[in-house]
Amino acid sequence: MDFFTGVRPLLFSYVLINGILITLQTKEEVLLDMKATGGELGWLTWPLDQGDKLGWELIQRTLNGSQLYTYSVCNVGEREQDNWLRTTFIQRQPAASRVFVELQFIVRDCNSFDGTSLTCKETFNLFTSESDADVGTTFRKGQFKKVATIAPDEITGKNAMHINTETRVVENLSRKGFYLAFQDIGACVALVSTRVYYKTCPDTVKSLASFPETVAGGENQALREVSGVCVDNAISEETPRIYCTVDGEWVVPVGQCQCKPGYEEVKDACQECQPGFFKAAASGDKCELCPVNTQGLDSGALFCPCTDGFYRAPTDPASGPCSGLPSAPRDLVATTTQLSTGKLLLSWSPPEDTGGRTDITYNVECQRCEGSVCQLCGEKIRYEPASTGLTQAKVSVSELDAHLNYTFTVEAHSGVSPFGSQAMPRSNRPPSTSALTTSLHYTDPPRITTMRLVERTSASLSLSWDVSPRTRVQPRPIRYELTYRKKDDNLDVTTYIVLILEKNFVHISDLAPGTAYLFRVQALGSDGSPGGSSIEEQFETSHEEHLTQNNTAVIFGAAVVGAAMLFIVILFLFLRRRKRNSHSRQGPEDTYFSSSEQLKPLKTYVDPHTYEDPNIAVLKFATEIHPSHITKQKVIGAGEFGEVYRGNLKMPGRKEVAVAIKTLKPGYTEKQRQDFLSEASIMGQFSHQNIIRLEGVVTKCKDFFKHPMIVTEYMENGALDRYLKDHDGEFPSFQLVGMMHGIAAGMKYLSDMSYVHRDLAARNILVNNNLECKVSDFGLSRVLEDDPEGTYTTSGGKIPIRWTAPEAIAYRKFTSASDVWSFGIVMWEVMAFGERPYWDMSNHEVMKAINEAFRLPAPMDCPSAVYQLMLQCWLQDRSKRPRFGDIVNLLDKLLRSPDSLKTIADFDPRVSIRLPSTSGSDGSPFRSVSEWLESIKMSQYSENFNCAGVVTMDQVLQMKNEDIKNIGVRLPGHLKRIAYSILGLKDQTSTLSVFAV
Ligand code: AMP
Repeated sequence: MDFFTGVRPLLFSYVLINGILITLQTKEEVLLDMKATGGELGWLTWPLDQGDKLGWELIQRTLNGSQLYTYSVCNVGEREQDNWLRTTFIQRQPAASRVFVELQFIVRDCNSFDGTSLTCKETFNLFTSESDADVGTTFRKGQFKKVATIAPDEITGKNAMHINTETRVVENLSRKGFYLAFQDIGACVALVSTRVYYKTCPDTVKSLASFPETVAGGENQALREVSGVCVDNAISEETPRIYCTVDGEWVVPVGQCQCKPGYEEVKDACQECQPGFFKAAASGDKCELCPVNTQGLDSGALFCPCTDGFYRAPTDPASGPCSGLPSAPRDLVATTTQLSTGKLLLSWSPPEDTGGRTDITYNVECQRCEGSVCQLCGEKIRYEPASTGLTQAKVSVSELDAHLNYTFTVEAHSGVSPFGSQAMPRSNRPPSTSALTTSLHYTDPPRITTMRLVERTSASLSLSWDVSPRTRVQPRPIRYELTYRKKDDNLDVTTYIVLILEKNFVHISDLAPGTAYLFRVQALGSDGSPGGSSIEEQFETSHEEHLTQNNTAVIFGAAVVGAAMLFIVILFLFLRRRKRNSHSRQGPEDTYFSSSEQLKPLKTYVDPHTYEDPNIAVLKFATEIHPSHITKQKVIGAGEFGEVYRGNLKMPGRKEVAVAIKTLKPGYTEKQRQDFLSEASIMGQFSHQNIIRLEGVVTKCKDFFKHPMIVTEYMENGALDRYLKDHDGEFPSFQLVGMMHGIAAGMKYLSDMSYVHRDLAARNILVNNNLECKVSDFGLSRVLEDDPEGTYTTSGGKIPIRWTAPEAIAYRKFTSASDVWSFGIVMWEVMAFGERPYWDMSNHEVMKAINEAFRLPAPMDCPSAVYQLMLQCWLQDRSKRPRFGDIVNLLDKLLRSPDSLKTIADFDPRVSIRLPSTSGSDGSPFRSVSEWLESIKMSQYSENFNCAGVVTMDQVLQMKNEDIKNIGVRLPGHLKRIAYSILGLKDQTSTLSVFAV
């Protein structure tokens, strides 16, 4: 039967055209196309000799004016059909191991033939056979492997003809060519088209690298790696690579090419920079316009040279603007600050023209003139902070002689000064110096010459001292600072008593009998600071009371004893109170001060607990604010006592300022109220740029009595640990060291005031908009109660173990030295962008590790000098740890010479990222990419890895830095973290130790 008998061909032509359109859309290399061959197909049919039974036959039809050839068979009425149709030999392209066979065919509905239901089929089979040579007309069924049974989606009835399109894949081809064969087992089928093709990734230019057309991979090589070459004038550190998928798509370009210096990318090519523009390095950036004070070169410029009279300092980027020399400092004045000590304060205004630079420094030179003869002042003169490299427009000069004329010359410098002075004759340069002649008229500082015992009893000593003769012309009054202590004070607590006196005589009446005391006396300058030299002497109280015969003396003696006893009782009560409050923040090494009438308060922290009524301490140290001046806006945090709000404070006559408002939640006890307000009593005593500033308290107002508040300056960026976590990798070391410097300066101030913080940690540092860091959290009896890190110790207190020095954990020895240990941990937190110290180790593990002399390893990219300082802060012997003053100085030095931050401490990624240790032999300890990302806290990139087809740890281990960048990890900190972790994973051969000291 002819396949086409009784079928209308109209629909057929339409679908056919549609089918051609579809195939044209894909990028395919065609190996065989039945339609293109027309009637010259020459396919083999089998059995060769079928008698009167017809197998597959080539039928020609004219359709819409063009010839159409189909192979069809339609023996629906016959039993046991086995008709084969074999293509000609299809040569295979060597790389194409996977080919697509697209068939278009029509199958007639068996129901459209009468009486054939038993034998009629509606499917046929597709076979293939590989061969290295064309075997001609030899045909052996047994050599063919079945690929698929081909069934129509729609069968064709009497009225409409449906063309079906099916595509099958033949995988793993390896020989020179192959045949396809179609087996009919009793269907009425017409094969309209057979198209055999393989897919390729077309030649392309991606990221300025060109890649050749590449045959798509097959089942055994799903992604085919292809190397490319950079386009003209582009370069790349590593060979650019890309992957071709089985579907002929390019994915995951690796190793980007970048236009050479002087070139920029324009539409997949590199073009020279336009005249007046430049590009200094190979990068993906565009050429930049020449910056100010530079001149443009011709096209393709790598840099823009400075115009005459302008320079670049060695540290200036070659791509930056050029700057001129600074003009002279202005308005140089000298102020006498301390007549008694020969001190002058020189100050001036910055130069009018800074030459466009911010690194202006000043050098001060001193000349001493007698008559018309001037000479350099020499080394006797002291400058504070220094005579050269001053960043502030002031300097204090001391050790000056009286009645002499001094000429001070202040010179402005900038990074380009050395170049300007070489390049330009002096007459052409802007004058950069300012001079001032001044003289001092003062007398020498008072000097204590002798100290002598005037009288002694078993409980008192009377002393007097002499001042140097020249002091007699000193304007009155002179004041003296007398410090004394017991000589053999074996106790843990050394009590110094400091007295400020206005006479050169003292009677001390509260002393122990038969005891040696050390006395030191020093004259004070007019501003209260110690001047002149001091003298130290030892005097001893007598063993027994020697009463004189004189009755008056007896009465006097009794009075003295009574007073001494009263004082001892008071002192005892005072010390007992201190002991009771031993959890208070005052360190046992701190200096205590007597509350004697003679004393004037020195700048030392006063523990509010020494006040009988802590409310009085609040009154003394904090300003009362009327609640109507405060507006609460939004809750920003929660402390132990209640919510913390952001709000505004508008005091009459003052500008409105943003503030943080701490509140005490309702239902508190009186003790809680006092503890809450004690923070204000402490904070109110401090005044330093790096200590959170207390604006005031609300304690009194009737309506608000129940809602006391503490109002402090508002720190826009909140707690430092959170802030760094949110900005992981975003700050260079220089900036991080700047933050540490601020914290250290605040801590120096606190330790100078003998205040021990006890809970120094990044979470207790607040950061404002200018990235200034300020120490906060000055709770008192609540020490650490509100700190989630606080852990109960066996002695009942709460201690944040991983921030606390061993001696403070072991026997509560909280001192400024233990604060230094905590500062070291804060430094580590800062360099590690808010990472938790000791990661997920338990407190117990941390303590054990510290006792075994292990210390935290250097964070990633940590300057060596900074890590060395951390290790110093963590010295077991607290007396060897640096003091906050040393720390501030060192950090200051590092900041002044940023090159010192360039040497990076050894970093062991296996330790610092704390991969789980593994003894597994299969390389990576992670079962999946997402598990690995989770372990290094980079889960946010799971999708990026997935999309880029990096789904196994094996693929991860192959990744290079460029690959990580290409999948969309852009932040430098994250890039490093991932790269280092891969490095660490590769290096699994060595054991994963927890710490490296
Ligand atoms: P505290 O009770 O002092 O630990 O404060 C709880 C939280 O409130 C802190 O972690 C900060 O997030 C926030 N906070 C406290 N004081 C301030 C402030 N002065 N400026 C901004 N936020 C603050």
